[in-house]
Amino acid sequence: MKLIFKGVVQGVGFRPTIYRVAKKLGLKGYVLNKGSEVEVVINKDKDDFIKQLKKHLPSIAKITDIIVEKDDRTFNDFKILHSKKGKRLSLIPPDIGICEKCVSELFNKNDKRYQFPFTNCTICGARYSLVEDVPYDRERTSMDDFKLCESCKKEYISPINRRYHAQTISCPKCGPSYRLYDKNKKDLGATFPIKRFANQIDAGKIGVIKSWGGMHLCCNLNQINRFREWYNRPQKAFAIMVKNLEVAQKYGDITEDERKIMLSKNKPIVLVKKTAAEEVSPGLNTIGIFLPYTGLHHLLFSYLKSDALVMTSSNIPGEAMITSDEEAFSIDADIYLLHNRRIPNRVDDSVIRLWRGNTFFLRKSRGFVPEPIAVDYNKKILSVGAGENITGAISHDKNVYATQYIGNSKYYSTLEFLEESLRHLMKMTMEKQEIDAVVQDLHPGYDSRKVALKFSEDFSAPLYDVQHHWAHAASLLVDNNLEESVVLALDGLGYGSDGTFWGGEVLLSNFEDFKRIGHLEYIPMLGGDQATRDPRRLVFAIFKKFGEEKFFSGNEAEILSKMMKNSPVSSSSGRVLDALSCYLNICTKRTYDGEPAMKLEKYLANGRPIYSFDAEVKNNTVGTINLFKQLDEMIDKPLKDKEKADYAYSFVKTIMDKLTELATHNADENNIKTIGLTGGVSYNIPINEMVNNHVKNAGLSLVVHNRVPNGDGGISIGQNAIVGHRLSL
Ligand SMILES: [Zn+2]
Ligand SMILES: [Zn+2]
Repeated sequence: MKLIFKGVVQGVGFRPTIYRVAKKLGLKGYVLNKGSEVEVVINKDKDDFIKQLKKHLPSIAKITDIIVEKDDRTFNDFKILHSKKGKRLSLIPPDIGICEKCVSELFNKNDKRYQFPFTNCTICGARYSLVEDVPYDRERTSMDDFKLCESCKKEYISPINRRYHAQTISCPKCGPSYRLYDKNKKDLGATFPIKRFANQIDAGKIGVIKSWGGMHLCCNLNQINRFREWYNRPQKAFAIMVKNLEVAQKYGDITEDERKIMLSKNKPIVLVKKTAAEEVSPGLNTIGIFLPYTGLHHLLFSYLKSDALVMTSSNIPGEAMITSDEEAFSIDADIYLLHNRRIPNRVDDSVIRLWRGNTFFLRKSRGFVPEPIAVDYNKKILSVGAGENITGAISHDKNVYATQYIGNSKYYSTLEFLEESLRHLMKMTMEKQEIDAVVQDLHPGYDSRKVALKFSEDFSAPLYDVQHHWAHAASLLVDNNLEESVVLALDGLGYGSDGTFWGGEVLLSNFEDFKRIGHLEYIPMLGGDQATRDPRRLVFAIFKKFGEEKFFSGNEAEILSKMMKNSPVSSSSGRVLDALSCYLNICTKRTYDGEPAMKLEKYLANGRPIYSFDAEVKNNTVGTINLFKQLDEMIDKPLKDKEKADYAYSFVKTIMDKLTELATHNADENNIKTIGLTGGVSYNIPINEMVNNHVKNAGLSLVVHNRVPNGDGGISIGQNAIVGHRLSL
């Protein structure tokens, strides 16, 4: 009989496992990769075979479906046959952190891969970042440039070897290699490049490391101030890569769940409670930590005196991570550790935060992409996301696939990356390159619309606009397999259906439609985007309503006052948090996206609800401007941190209570049992706690994100689902 296996079945040691199981059971027949599926023919009953197979399944393989067909052919032996073209409904595995066996070989003097930084096997190593097409075989990866040596070939064809049919294996003799360069592109040679690089980093140099899916900038922790100045990021949080888990515990208070995900094969950056190295994430209560995930990282730490390094994607803020040597030299670091393997697909490190057993993806990339998410529509929809932190998504055959993290769409390089990634994802997963519809954000100014238009024209597919916060809500419904919910969509800014800017929204949402149940009061954004970049303008606008002037005086105040009438207005919760952070002198100057609100979180985490504010709700609008006036009247002296924390907590809780109240009332009226929380503000843990308590007390349950990013990285999934459902009606 013939068995067709679907799922993550290629490039993960699936065929060798089948071979070994079949041999053990004395079966005759064959196994081959067909398109993205695996076809097996055996001459006996399948049950025992499948049972044994599942018992020995490689750790990263995943069977999603088995189709059984009649096949009476007879064979003399069991063989692995060459790949055939076929259906492309595949799941190319993500990049998987180096496994323990490979690490031990790395440090075994007698092993042929001793100190070989590209060591990998059938269950570990770079995958998605190397793959150029399916079926997944070496010739369609960037390892095709390196011809297997005789010794590696032996391993490759030996069924008992743990590298049997591992497509990307190599050794020091036949594989890629690292070389060291100075900032003038001068080749410093191939002898001990990693060790020499490590010495330079210990000595305080800023280095670039070419890795699997891109380039990292790194330096030791003592150099962080110089690094910030050189990289022009005075305050932004950086992730640190640490030698091992014991070292991680020096910098963070790590829970059991966080420990597990940090050690998992995906090796993401995990945001944990910070206990040391304040300067790595100034003013925040979290620190992003990750463990070595390539052979190179392990070797590097074996040579370094430092046990932790700042390790961050090498790019211009918001732009796509650098993948080519040429671009890397343009950023003018001190020293470069580069290899000679191409990077077909740029994949950034993933960033995760855990809350009460839920996984919040701040960035979903390496180790997690591509990942299909099941949907109940069978349409080919391509969606391009919003403006910042974008991802794209493509759906077909009742699954939706999001691209890796792309960046900010206002840069040309990022738009190019968005288009490339979507085309690649289509090539990797679709049998026929077809699109039924293209979806974009309603905001007329987003540059991602250019990419949407291009796909729409290329594929003669209609173009749809979807409102930003509805897309957030829909992404949450997809994430939780829900049809409908009342949802708090809390974020920075999104273009509203009425032409104002939204961001503190209570929506009754399903996939067909949404209703705006309530929102925060509108605040003038003096100078539009300028008010996002300079939170003092928000505070100024708020107090100007009472005839008072804060933060600005004289000429500046006069100019800003004139803007009051004609500036755009926003109901954004992110902007209220910014304004509060600024008013309390926690952060009055924004140097990176979301900074004032993020710095406020540390205070919220330590605050108590001991001050009472009186928030008015009129026409389903939750008053916020008056709360600032009340706050101002309560404070008559400079505040200590503890007092700021209590004021901040009481203030934010008042707003969250009012918004949640609107939500729970509406849920009751509509017999809905869940309240959802989504949008960039929903990464804020104290806010999750506030909303969760309130929702629980109302006898309802809170739904949050787990697979789809809370922030704008999840928008493409929501857009996709809304139009997917519309076309299915
Ligand atoms: Zn391995
Ligand atoms: Zn070799």
